[in-house]
Amino acid sequence: MTVLVLMDESDASRQALTLARKFGDPRSVRMDAIEPFAPDALAAALAQAADELNASAVFAAGTDRGNEVMARLAARTGLPFAANCISATPGEPVSVTRLRWGGSLLEEARLHSPRPLISVAPHTVPEDTGPRPQDVDMKPPAEADLVVRVVDHVSPRNGGVSLAEAKVIVSGGRGVGSKEGFAIIEDLAGLLGAAVGCSRAVTSAGWRPHSDQVGQTGTKVAPDVYIACGISGATQHMAGLKGAKRILAINSDPQAPLMLNADYTVTGDLKEIVPAISAEIRKRR
Ligand SMILES: Cc1cc2nc3c(=O)[nH]c(=O)nc-3n(C[C@H](O)[C@H](O)[C@H](O)COP(=O)(O)OP(=O)(O)OC[C@H]3O[C@@H](n4cnc5c(N)ncnc54)[C@H](O)[C@@H]3O)c2cc1C
Repeated sequence: MTVLVLMDESDASRQALTLARKFGDPRSVRMDAIEPFAPDALAAALAQAADELNASAVFAAGTDRGNEVMARLAARTGLPFAANCISATPGEPVSVTRLRWGGSLLEEARLHSPRPLISVAPHTVPEDTGPRPQDVDMKPPAEADLVVRVVDHVSPRNGGVSLAEAKVIVSGGRGVGSKEGFAIIEDLAGLLGAAVGCSRAVTSAGWRPHSDQVGQTGTKVAPDVYIACGISGATQHMAGLKGAKRILAINSDPQAPLMLNADYTVTGDLKEIVPAISAEIRKRR
């Protein structure tokens, strides 16, 4: 029995391979075989290879790109797709355990499918140490499958400090009030050498780019200090904060979930408190 795996050079791919091996002898479609990244073209290549090899299942890493290709493969083939699994057991049906709600819920599910499509949540499974699977031969992609593709790379604007690696993050939510309101957040971040983050309410309003968003559908952060200004602390935001060592919350509502989960809190209007902190830092320098 052959199992097909979408692979690149990442640890996450080798973790996906660990689960894939339970479903058969692995063969791989290389993610970088189509450059720049074009998810439909990769989905087409996987669909064709899976048919030719009569693959028992198709696996990918549960990364943004892995999940995007698998979702397109599912749409093309009508096969069910279980995303972000942490275990998978072959059988009829296939049993999977998968991460939901940003990792706060584990779902046990049964997959009734002649060819399950499964992505593996990164860093939840050990990396495969076996030989690298043989790559399948791929035809050049059809023009129609290249309509969605990467056309440009734009560097994040966090003054050179990457959100995922920042030691200090000053983050703003809907309570900041406007795009212009972020000037006081940026000022404090500049004084602390911090990155600026935000909630989804902020990116949805167009006040900040998506690259600044922290949470389940944004960046997962692990700073020494996370300063949350005017953020309520919805589950999806907190899902991105699990790695934060200390949280300082500034909010006018002392009962906001983030205030209840923070190490330090300041209750009040952030438009007064944030500039006051910045002024105090300047005074002491
Ligand atoms: C599938 C899905 C995925 C999602 N993914 C994410 C994600 O990745 N990241 C994310 O953040 N959200 C995510 N969300 C949205 C999430 O559910 C919340 O809607 C969002 O986090 C709320 O943002 P907020 O805290 O800025 O806004 P609100 O919930 O509106 O909170 C605003 C806070 O500001 C306070 N405030 C108001 N004015 C002031 C002031 N002047 N001074 C001090 N405090 C003030 C209020 O008391 C309140 O606590 C997701 C939702 C779904 C359904």
